[in-house]
Amino acid sequence: MDKPLLAGLRIVAMTHIIAEPCIGTKDSSCVDVCPVDCIHPTKDEADFQEAELLYIDPETCIDCGLCVDECPVQAIFPEEDLPEEWQHYLKVNTEWYQKQA
Ligand code: SF4
Repeated sequence: MDKPLLAGLRIVAMTHIIAEPCIGTKDSSCVDVCPVDCIHPTKDEADFQEAELLYIDPETCIDCGLCVDECPVQAIFPEEDLPEEWQHYLKVNTEWYQKQA
């Protein structure tokens, strides 16, 4: 029997990631431009004050890149360009949304 053509292939969705420069900044300009509202917490949400930084939901991000230039501290990166020293922020962003579920 023939194998299905895509058997064994893993479809990996890419995301953008917010890293360390956001800590203590939480400027939120990125929130205003995101077309799918996947950056949280927003200033209107209860956990904004206590959040260390803002986070991008990797399940919802469509990788459009609109948020990157809005950030005044260059804290947002496409996954493939995330600096080595901030690689763990992919997990940091992802885990924040897992805790909200
Ligand atoms: Fe939102 Fe686009 Fe930034 Fe993803 S890349 S967080 S969809 S603005």
